[in-house]
Amino acid sequence: KIAIFWHRRDMRLHDNAGLYYALKSEYPVLPLFIFDKTILDELEDKRDRRVEFIMRAVEDMQEKLAKEDSSLLVRYGVPLKAWKEIVNEYDVAEVYTNHDYEPYAKKRDGEVADFLKKKDIPFHTFKDQVIFEKEEILTGKGTPYTVFTPYSKSWLEKLHGSKEKNFYVKPYPTEKYFDKLHKTKKLPIPSLEEMGFERMPDEEFPSKKVRDEKLAKYAELRDYPAAPGTSRLSIHLRFGTISIRELARQAMGTSKTFLGELIWRDFYQQILWNFPHVGEGKAFRPEYDRIKWRNNEEEFEKWCQGQTGYPIVDAGMRQLNETGYMHNRLRMITASFLVKDLLIDWRWGEAYFDKKLQDYDMAANNGGWQWAAGSGTDAAPYFRIFNPTTQAKKFDPQLKFIKEWIPELNELDYPDPIVDHKEAREHCLKAYKEALDS
Ligand code: FAD
Repeated sequence: KIAIFWHRRDMRLHDNAGLYYALKSEYPVLPLFIFDKTILDELEDKRDRRVEFIMRAVEDMQEKLAKEDSSLLVRYGVPLKAWKEIVNEYDVAEVYTNHDYEPYAKKRDGEVADFLKKKDIPFHTFKDQVIFEKEEILTGKGTPYTVFTPYSKSWLEKLHGSKEKNFYVKPYPTEKYFDKLHKTKKLPIPSLEEMGFERMPDEEFPSKKVRDEKLAKYAELRDYPAAPGTSRLSIHLRFGTISIRELARQAMGTSKTFLGELIWRDFYQQILWNFPHVGEGKAFRPEYDRIKWRNNEEEFEKWCQGQTGYPIVDAGMRQLNETGYMHNRLRMITASFLVKDLLIDWRWGEAYFDKKLQDYDMAANNGGWQWAAGSGTDAAPYFRIFNPTTQAKKFDPQLKFIKEWIPELNELDYPDPIVDHKEAREHCLKAYKEALDS
């Protein structure tokens, strides 16, 4: 009999809550990863950095497990079907995994749990990818927070208020129990080509030293896209190749501002969990679904291609298209431009980012887009509209970032602005007012 640990958003063997508890069970543990056909089939572009990233993480874990005379079991298919095959092939006593808060994941896990229950196989799940989850941080009235600042205050109070110092960021020492891994020869991994994907360039993993250097200057540099001032850890956090506890511990010692960003991450995860309608294409505040969007397809296409004639917007979009990454300041500027200046439904932008962002995360992306649209949890009123020209002056004063992405800036073939910001602003305010007053 064996226990299976199912990796999903936690592609690492160290400091992994669910894996730790599996290893402490009475059975040898076989770690599993399923390349989910349902998700992969939806990806149009077969050169996808995320799939590539997962493959590298799978290969990395496979090598580490081989050193322990164990292996990762890797499947390609629809998870429920894969599970049916796995329980036929192996004598499975228990299954362990970590929580995943997205609507699709909740449904998937519900189906797998039901199936395993019928087979009398317990399905144990754990918090791993956030510091605080679900209903762990509530207001005095016992309801979930919907505004960040008080949430963040409670979050920090809980973090620092534990009886045992640093209790919530303590690592799970899985490596102490690696002798409990199921002994087996290396099991095969389906190739990217078999799954219809191509290889992409590798994503660097910043060492602790590099991270320390970054965090020391984080507060000062984080808003300037030309300075490599942010951690670039989003993809690692997305797929769990770094432990959130390890990173939070590091942030506690070096940068409160950076810790604040990790709190934003927990915040949006708990919003998605407690208000699942945001993950189903609805505005957090329903009255914002009355806005009459202009939804001009040609303008949307120009925004996607980085051809709006607003250099800071175009530079951001080109960075996204080329690299699968966009600096946070530019995500805010490009999102605001799409929603407010072009009056295009934020869901179009959300979907475009979903397609392109290597660190795509439903909770953070949706939170960011609803923030830009004013329809979300943010306390700032909708009539605060980013001016792309002043934003550029403030955050890229030497045009360093802009020139990197728009070499033709001063040439004739750079387009004129597709809308006049002042007029667009008036138009937007009118549309919002009409929707919210009706
Ligand atoms: P750092 O500044 O170094 O931050 C460290 C980590 O904190 C990030 O890796 C991320 O995990 C977390 N974080 C930082 N800011 C936020 C935030 N506002 N909300 C939630 N978590 C945050 N982030 C994603 O991870 N995936 C997305 O799909 C995503 N979509 C976004 C869409 C819009 C419209 C906006 C405005 C923001 C979005 N963000 C998203 C948040 C943020 O832009 C990225 O996390 C950040 O740019 C990633 O770069 P970094 O790792 O260098 O960030």
